[in-house]
Amino acid sequence: MKIAIIGAGLSGLSLAWKLLESEPCQVTLFDPKGVGGGASGVASGLMHPYVGEQGRRSHLATEGLAATRHLLSQVEQKLGFAVARYEGIVRIAQDEEQRSAFEKHVVEHGDIEDVGEGAFWIRSGVTVHCGMYLEGLWQLIASRGGALERARVDTLAALSDFDRIVIAAGFGVKNFAECEDVRLKFTKGHVLRAAAPDGELYLAKSLIGKGYVALGEKAGVYHLGSTYEKQFTSDEPVEKQALEQILPKIAGFFPEVKHLNVIEVRAGVRVARPEHYFPITARLNEKCFLFTALGSRGLLYHALLAEQLKTDLLC
Ligand SMILES: Cc1cc2nc3c(=O)[nH]c(=O)nc-3n(C[C@H](O)[C@H](O)[C@H](O)COP(=O)(O)OP(=O)(O)OC[C@H]3O[C@@H](n4cnc5c(N)ncnc54)[C@H](O)[C@@H]3O)c2cc1C
Repeated sequence: MKIAIIGAGLSGLSLAWKLLESEPCQVTLFDPKGVGGGASGVASGLMHPYVGEQGRRSHLATEGLAATRHLLSQVEQKLGFAVARYEGIVRIAQDEEQRSAFEKHVVEHGDIEDVGEGAFWIRSGVTVHCGMYLEGLWQLIASRGGALERARVDTLAALSDFDRIVIAAGFGVKNFAECEDVRLKFTKGHVLRAAAPDGELYLAKSLIGKGYVALGEKAGVYHLGSTYEKQFTSDEPVEKQALEQILPKIAGFFPEVKHLNVIEVRAGVRVARPEHYFPITARLNEKCFLFTALGSRGLLYHALLAEQLKTDLLC
């Protein structure tokens, strides 16, 4: 079976690998920006079950974490080094409602601990170094004969040679006529990459407060985020706006931010369903499938849903 996947982000790459890992098929990824050129290359790498203002445990969180951890281990075996940090993530409750939600999780789930002063250590949390992880996924795919064409797909008619086509195009989904009835919302986000000039290690774990400080792939490098912009004219970074919106909120819970130098401003667009945070895997017609709406939980859900979509696709 010949399968075309439009988009080489978390969704497209995880699906390509799941297919090639277990099925005798030919997979070609199409992406003009190459691997991780969309939101996946911008993501700060935080993966944990308690995403969102209310701090609720995400649907299928246990399964999602396990599926991503399995993929991480495959990538790490391929590359021969770690592409994530597994020491957990600390989240500071922002109000009484969040604090009592986390206190309940401490009792009900084994993966979160009250560490005092309103802070909770999410032991199941992982900080993924997304650039390295995506590159590792690509190496796995290439090792099984998967191909990547650095080309934009404008119409599915151009892929008539393929038996199956999967649209995993992130923000680019809005350009496909086949998806015009799918209700989606788009939220732009900025993130700052910053470094301590002296390589100082200010944090041993990624920290989430009002905003977050995620540990980067090198000691003393951090990802500071994020913004949630509903109105925007392009997905390109706007430096002034990013600095003004991110730095003051980080300073509120991580004063050491004043010692960091911003080395890069990144931006991407999150795609989500308007009424729910769970992603979409759907059959659009006999040949064509959709994999989108990973929202802010791309790392939690991509591997789990790629496995499910693989089964639907081969039916
Ligand atoms: C600032 C920010 C921070 C984030 N931080 C986190 C985080 O810490 N943890 C987390 O879990 N999630 C985070 N996310 C969310 C995460 O990035 C997304 O859920 C995830 O990357 C979506 O993956 P995707 O593969 O669906 O889309 P993308 O990564 O956007 O990939 C889509 C790809 O499709 C390509 N494409 C588009 N149109 C076409 C076309 N016509 N033809 C060919 N190719 C096309 C694009 O070039 C792109 O590479 C963050 C998002 C943002 C914006």
